[in-house]
Amino acid sequence: MKIEIIKADITRIQADAIVNAANSSLLGGGGVDGAIHRAGGKELLEECIKIRNRQGGCKTGEAVVTTAGNLPAKHVIHTVGPVWNGDKERSSKLLTQCYKNSLKLAESLEIKTIAFPNISTGIYRFPKDLAAAIAIDVVSNFKSEVIEKVIFVCFDDENEEIYKELLNNKD
Ligand code: ADP
Repeated sequence: MKIEIIKADITRIQADAIVNAANSSLLGGGGVDGAIHRAGGKELLEECIKIRNRQGGCKTGEAVVTTAGNLPAKHVIHTVGPVWNGDKERSSKLLTQCYKNSLKLAESLEIKTIAFPNISTGIYRFPKDLAAAIAIDVVSNFKSEVIEKVIFVCFDDENEEIYKELLNNKD
């Protein structure tokens, strides 16, 4: 699996799937979630509402998939990151589950390219360096015959620098 790091707005990315750092209501919110819902439009929200009616939303660490609506991507995988509360072990496990479950879901959908935002590092206040280390670790250890490329879409300079440094130090 190839790993790419870019600084961009994830709503502009033309990948088979983009991942949304959603909240458990699945109804949209601030940050990247708000941007994805605004750009995805009505169809995306309607599918989220259907999932919510069926299973009561999405728990922290889990992932669900919808259409991408008006976005250039084909699918949106919504995962709910943990809110950082200082419990490093518990939060790290949950963030690991977000990346793993998103990749598993992508694989089951035969997705070749998937783009992740820096889940939980905005409103949810997860430390950026720890979040990046977890994201890179899960993706690097995920063996897939299906997924060809993972794009980490950073939105701020700090995250971009952290990701680039961590990835450079790996090889
Ligand atoms: P969370 O609630 O999981 O912390 P946020 O949306 O607040 O979610 O932040 C997650 C990350 O997404 C942050 O690093 C933030 O800078 C970034 N982000 C915000 N808007 C966008 C966007 N349009 N594209 C990509 N990343 C974004």
